Amino acid sequence: MRYIVITGGVLSGLGKGTITSSLSHLLKSNGLKVTAMKIDPYLNYDAGTMNPYQHGEVFVLDDGSEVDLDLGNYERFLDTNLSGDNNITTGKTYLEVIEKERRGDYLGSTVQIIPHITNEIKRRIRKVATSGDIDVVMIEVGGTVGDIESMPFLEALRQLKREEPEGSVLFGHVTLIPAIGSVDEQKTKPTQHSVKQLREIGIQPDILFCRTKKPLLIETIKKLSLFTDVSEAGIISVSDVQNVYLLPELMEKQGLVKYVAEKLSLKLAPSEDIWKKYKQNIINPSETVTIAIVGKYIQLQDAYISHKEAFSHVCGTTGIGVKLKWVDSDEVVGNPSVFDDVNGILIPGGFGYRGVEGKVAAARIAREKHIPFLGICLGFQVAVIEYARNVLKLDKANSTEFDLNTKYPVIDILPEQKGVKSMGGTMRLGSKPVKVKQDSVAMSIYGTEDISERHRHRFEVNPTYIKSLTEAGMIFSGVDEEGIRMEILELGDRDNFIATQYHSEFKSRPLAPSMVHVHLVKKALENKLGHEGSRVAERIVN
Ligand code: GLN
Repeated sequence: MRYIVITGGVLSGLGKGTITSSLSHLLKSNGLKVTAMKIDPYLNYDAGTMNPYQHGEVFVLDDGSEVDLDLGNYERFLDTNLSGDNNITTGKTYLEVIEKERRGDYLGSTVQIIPHITNEIKRRIRKVATSGDIDVVMIEVGGTVGDIESMPFLEALRQLKREEPEGSVLFGHVTLIPAIGSVDEQKTKPTQHSVKQLREIGIQPDILFCRTKKPLLIETIKKLSLFTDVSEAGIISVSDVQNVYLLPELMEKQGLVKYVAEKLSLKLAPSEDIWKKYKQNIINPSETVTIAIVGKYIQLQDAYISHKEAFSHVCGTTGIGVKLKWVDSDEVVGNPSVFDDVNGILIPGGFGYRGVEGKVAAARIAREKHIPFLGICLGFQVAVIEYARNVLKLDKANSTEFDLNTKYPVIDILPEQKGVKSMGGTMRLGSKPVKVKQDSVAMSIYGTEDISERHRHRFEVNPTYIKSLTEAGMIFSGVDEEGIRMEILELGDRDNFIATQYHSEFKSRPLAPSMVHVHLVKKALENKLGHEGSRVAERIVN
């Protein structure tokens, strides 16, 4: 078993997750079995109760775990399904240790950070390492070296290196090389300091991933090597890339894989670059459409990262590029012209009343002006609310999430959610089967009756209103296994308005994009090109 630990220095937001994912992808392409895990040094048990404004999107795994968005990156770059164990938090670690203490497992001893917490951290890492047939475990440590919160984790990782056989644990450090002055001089001092901080806690990095505007100059590499003791071959320039899927190649070209393989005595079996065509499409799409994403967290685009990625997957596989227009849902009401320059509208998931009226307005504009539409989770519920209000004429129809006393609760709490008081991990979560109905747009998209998609919701279409919605022309073309929960909706008279209660963006992968996102983009291209659009879109997509 080999472990590669990735820490971060200087400042946050340098793309540690993408770097970890890219190295994971490269190792996998070289025949190794790789898994990746994330350490989040916050006290929350998991990401489920956090506002997307703070850490970006809450990602959902097959097993229903609500995790850091980096797990989404690992899944996409590794094309694998991970479990909740792949995300360690301070909350999970301490809870376990305190529960053990209460049970009496440590009877007689003083329970301390070292060794009890650090042992629990290592136990969790080794549990993932031994959970399957794995050669390399990638471990990304959230936060920045020097943060008080991450200390126990770094200490545990130092011990891990001590305990594992020589040459089986490697440390990579992500850092920033600013360029200043009129000649863009590359400055190494911040990196020197952050490596010094790592060394103070007993960790010597083997690789430096240096975020820079332009590739590192040879003098910069030499200087970094002299001051940090990282060999020149282990110093990698990570300059800005147009798209994250181009990063593995950029690092590979600098000999990263060869260097890692030597350090960890790994045997490589390189295979063909499976993303070759994909990357060409991303760099050079044959057509481009504009899609509006209507949300309330648009200032932080990471809040919708899986949608952004899903559109990138559509581009990589079809060659149709997607330009995103971020529309603040609060600004839609009374301002329909914000959609004049778009070819499609996506309403993603969300919680809470703020911004909902804008989303209802957006769904109405999409329906009335025949703009291609995709609603996801809250977007699905909003499409029902809009239809109930404006087609069924149920005045002020709403979800009981937003108006407990609404006369027409067309969206209501799931029966099993009534009485649930605790907020953590209690929604309808994770992968569930969905039955797709024959002769529907959904069937033309999926081509199969049985799909399985990830969920994260507490509310659903109120069964009382299904009959009247259906009679008014809304088609529920996907339902859960028991046939009682509505999962997909479309409109009887058109093929470019679809919404899903599930989050298809969570399972979108570079070479297997979310099919409803593909459909939206295809319909958006028809919208853009008018008459001939459908022929062009058909040719490009198939
Ligand atoms: N707030 C809605 C619910 O709980 C939608 C959730 C979501 O969009 N993820 O059902």
